[in-house]
Amino acid sequence: MPTTTPPSPERAASAGEATQASRVLIVDDDAFMATLLGLMLGRIGAFEAVGETDPAAALERLREHAREFDGIVVDLNMPGIDGMAFFRHLADIGYAGCVVPFSGEAPEVLESVMQLARSHGLNVPGTLTKPPRLEQLQALPWGCADARATSAGGDAGWQPDEQALRQALARGDIGCMYQPKVDLRDGRLVGVEALARWRHAAHGLITPDRFVPLAESCGAISELTRSVLETSLAQQARWRAQGLALSMSVNASARDLGDLGFADLVSERARHHGTQPEELVIEVTESELGDDPRLLVEIMSRLRLRRFALSIDDFGSGYSTLSKLRDAVFDEIKIDRDFTHAAHASLRGTVLFDSCTRLGQALGMRVVAEGIEDRLDWDFCRSHGVHLAQGYFISRPLAGEQLPRWQELWRERVPELVPTASDGGHSERPDQARA
Ligand code: C2E
Ligand code: MG
Ligand code: MG
Repeated sequence: MPTTTPPSPERAASAGEATQASRVLIVDDDAFMATLLGLMLGRIGAFEAVGETDPAAALERLREHAREFDGIVVDLNMPGIDGMAFFRHLADIGYAGCVVPFSGEAPEVLESVMQLARSHGLNVPGTLTKPPRLEQLQALPWGCADARATSAGGDAGWQPDEQALRQALARGDIGCMYQPKVDLRDGRLVGVEALARWRHAAHGLITPDRFVPLAESCGAISELTRSVLETSLAQQARWRAQGLALSMSVNASARDLGDLGFADLVSERARHHGTQPEELVIEVTESELGDDPRLLVEIMSRLRLRRFALSIDDFGSGYSTLSKLRDAVFDEIKIDRDFTHAAHASLRGTVLFDSCTRLGQALGMRVVAEGIEDRLDWDFCRSHGVHLAQGYFISRPLAGEQLPRWQELWRERVPELVPTASDGGHSERPDQARA
């Protein structure tokens, strides 16, 4: 039986008219628990909760109207369809909003269920224990806005083809979101990573997993990289004009690095937009670095000689890691989120994470941890020699114009996150970010 709990009036008003309430579906066979959680969600922010006590009915509704909900809270112990089966069904329908396991079981059980849900490809920002607590609800990085952008607009079933991609590139429909990178020592915002987003008129906001591999296979990747480079350098120049000096990280495909003209293109466009080479970081995914490193090393050396920064992305996720570190010189090592998030929770996780950070430090590289999803990740990285942090706990990817406002809010959070910081997260020159 569905019940609806609207957001509390004062929160709805304070969120401003432009902020639409996030709709959350609470699936729990205990109607009291669903109502209680709904009321608490209404209190903490612009949430509108809908309770559903019958998991089968909830699934039927989601099959028809998945995009109606920005997030789903799922009780694990339900008769008929339990939480684990529910996640599988959500994955089958390609649900892209956030999914939060909810249970009175021990934290280890919730943790392993969360990993299971993530392994289905679901967007799981964290878990909730029963009975729900306000602090826990507030601390959860819901990220419904981003999830809605993906799930509401992003039609999970739609797979673009080459023609659609080329048309989007020609029309400028592929833009960028920017995810902040902050210094763990003092919380300062030092840079952002540009993440490609395709704004499709009919299918909504499409994430790069659905068009980057296509761009690579159909030979449109250099056009995509060029477009992202142009958009992000122009945004960086706008921020600079507002007094916000930030480094810009751009993802390059291994194919870009196989192109002899790449270093010239990067130099020329950076000069055009007034970006100093140290203010531009080129990220390359480790697993994409090909087997024959000669051409790659040539292009990378050229970029380095021109003082652009190079980052080895998703470190730990690939295979021949060490040889790549031997053959090419990187300024930055970006530890993959699979190794960062919850590294503190197990001895194995901690040992692997420490090995990556020590390797980076010993090679004189800046160590960046991505996938900081909660306070525990944040504190762990601070005490384990990581320089910069990126992740949903700090911020989801943002539209360029949202960044200055985000920075104001971030400054308010910094004193609590970095007890010794005195100036509350002012930006600094990116070249000073290095520890
Ligand atoms: P990446 O470069 O490793 O980028 C980080 C990805 O992790 C982004 O996903 C970001 O939204 C996500 N992320 C950030 N913080 C967290 C967190 O705390 N938890 C979790 N679970 N995820 C987090 P996105 O934007 O979907 O990008 C996915 C990948 O697509 C990127 O991974 C990058 O490899 C590729 N990509 C994105 N933009 C471009 C581009 O312009 N060119 C190329 N060649 N590849 C791109
Ligand atoms: Mg990256
Ligand atoms: Mg990465």
